[in-house]
Formats: sequence, structure tokens, C-alpha cells
Amino acid sequence: MKYREFGKLGIKGSAFGLGCMRFNGPASGDSIIDEGKAVSLIRRAIDGGVTYIDTAYVYLDKTSEIVLGKALKDGYRERVTVATKMPMEAVHDRASMQSLLDEELKKLQTDHLDFYLMHGINKEKWEYFKKIGAPEFFDDMKKEGKIRFKCFSFHGSYEDFEYIIKDSDWDMVQIQYNFMDVNNQAGTRGLELAGSLNIPVVIMEGLLGGRLAKAPDNVQALYDNFPVKRSAVEWAFRWLCDRPEIATVLSGCNEAEQIDDNLRIFDTVEPGIMTPEEHKLMEYVREAYISRTKMGCTGCRYCMPCPNGVNIPGIFSAWNDASLYGIDPKNDWGFKMLLKNGATADKCVGCGACEAACPQHLSIIEGLKKAWEEIA
Ligand code: SF4
Ligand code: SF4
Repeated sequence: MKYREFGKLGIKGSAFGLGCMRFNGPASGDSIIDEGKAVSLIRRAIDGGVTYIDTAYVYLDKTSEIVLGKALKDGYRERVTVATKMPMEAVHDRASMQSLLDEELKKLQTDHLDFYLMHGINKEKWEYFKKIGAPEFFDDMKKEGKIRFKCFSFHGSYEDFEYIIKDSDWDMVQIQYNFMDVNNQAGTRGLELAGSLNIPVVIMEGLLGGRLAKAPDNVQALYDNFPVKRSAVEWAFRWLCDRPEIATVLSGCNEAEQIDDNLRIFDTVEPGIMTPEEHKLMEYVREAYISRTKMGCTGCRYCMPCPNGVNIPGIFSAWNDASLYGIDPKNDWGFKMLLKNGATADKCVGCGACEAACPQHLSIIEGLKKAWEEIA
């Protein structure tokens, strides 16, 4: 296992951080968590050298912290740093924040957290957290020794990210980043901004929710033709670990083989490891994925709301996901919700209001028809 510097914090952590959001039941895919299996997976990762463990209050129907607490008994707690999160929905004032933190500490069976994150914030959520006094609460908990580091995880635009990271004295940030998201969310600009402030960055969605783990034919052909053979997963993680700003890459595992494969991969990666030829390969890989795009919809939502209730960006996103990553919309939570809400493409009456509003000048009406033929 390679260990990396956490920017200004003066500590090191494992390059592979274990995410505790994907444990499942005895049979893969079961929604009921198999506690024994999860405890054994967590300990397997720690025994293999993992020192960074990530969970959240809401993961696995609020059971993830409980299972992690059990796994960290018998001396395992002292071998790792623990990160968990405060969801905006669960707090409204200082008393509720205190009660939530105490509940999380109890579930985790520990007297302190290492990294405590405001969960999944954007500018709007950050303003809420400020309004209820969360930054001061986090600072006070640091003084009391209940948390070591004040952090946030982020989903939003680069502009939001820049605003938030400069608006408080953060110890660490967690962002979504992978070779397909260089210009999405915080993106490469956000990563470099955090690096310039010497704030360590923890990465989530390094495989884009598993989408990058299995390459489509045109991408696999590029990997196959490269002189050094590596799996799609290894290329994705290797590409991330090349960046010096990144402290830890989270990976949620639900099988021992995944843990072992990650332990092998993260034993070989460090900043600056990618050769110019490998960087070129990953540029071609990105282009090969992008060439599969069905509709160049940015998700800006200027076309919304449709007077007939069609979820235009949702349909295009599902269409693109199916083509780029082989995601079956029928197994996708977002698409299932879209169907449930009746926001379907067959509701379109061709009024043209959306096309007039679209800054990308997309042929939305025709696109919706084709998308519906292919994914409905
Ligand atoms: S053209 Fe169709 S999708 Fe666009 S606004 Fe009109 S009804 Fe909605
Ligand atoms: S306005 Fe155009 S680019 Fe924006 S969400 Fe609608 S279809 Fe997509």
C-alpha cells in the first residue's frame, strides 16, 4: 500500500480509502446488509494496509456507521482514521448538531472522529449550514477533541466549489473526480485550487459509480492495444493517483476480491507515475467514451419545466448513460423515479418551448423520440 501526504495536516493516509456505502447481503445485490461479511471486509482492508475509512450517517439506511463501529473493535480503531458526515436534512440548530454527532460517535463506538464532513454540499446547502452555525460548531468540537478535522464533501458547480473552499478554514475536501469528470462539478480546476491552498483532497466516484469499471468495445480496444495490459479499474485509479493533490481515493467494495484487487493496484501508484504515453492513452479513452454520446445535453435545465411534465435532461442523461456506460435505464434509480413521476418522453406534444430555451440549440423534440425508442 502506498501512503500519501494529507496536505497541510501533516499526516499520511493510505492511497486506497475504503468506502462503507456498498456492503450488501449474503448474496451480492441483496439490500439487507450482511454484518459479518461487512466486518470481515473492513478488517481485510485494514489488515492489507488501508488506514482511511469513509462512511456517512445516511449510508445503508443509517446502518453503515453501526457496522463500521463493530468492525473497529478489537484494536482496529487505533489503526485507522475515520471519516463520517453530517447531512443537512438531519440538523437545524446547535442542539440537533450536537445530538447527531453524539449519536454518530456512539454508533461508531469511538470518542472522536478524525474527519467530519458537511455532507454533499453546494452553495445553497453551505449557506444553510452557515445559518445554523455549523462552522462554529465544528470549530468547537475540534477544541473539545470530538473531531480532528473540519471538512466537506461536494456536489455542485466549480463556481460553488471555489466560493465554499475560500469561505472557511477547511482541513480537507471530498470531491467527485475521475477521468470523465475533468470539466464536471469541481473538476480539475477545483482539484488544483484545493492543491494551491494545500488542502488535501479525498476522491469519491473515482469509477463514476462503477460506470468506468467495464469498458465498452471501442474503449476496451484502446486498452487492449496499449503495450502494458491493465484492467479498466486499474487505469482509472492509476490516472487519479498520478495527481499530487489527491490524498486518498475512495472505493466501496462488497466482495473480498475487490478489496484484494484494490490492495494490489494501490500498492503500485503514486504521484507522477503516469508516462506521457499513458496520459495520451487516457485522452483517447475519454474521447472514445465521448464519441458514444447520444445527446450533448449539459443538464443546465434552461428548458425546464416542460409544460407537459417531460423530464428532458433526465431522459437524455439516461440515454447517454446507456450508450457510454452500458447502464440499463430500468435498473437506474433516477430513471425509475422519472417513470414513476410520469415525466416520460411520450408526453411531448412538440410545442417547441424547450428548443427555444436551449443554449446548446439541441433538436430536443427529435432527440426525445429517438431516446424513447431506444431506452423506454
Ligand atoms: S417540445 Fe415537448 S418536451 Fe419540449 S417543452 Fe414542448 S412538450 Fe415539453
Ligand atoms: S436546455 Fe438543452 S442542454 Fe440544457 S438541460 Fe435542456 S436540453 Fe439539456
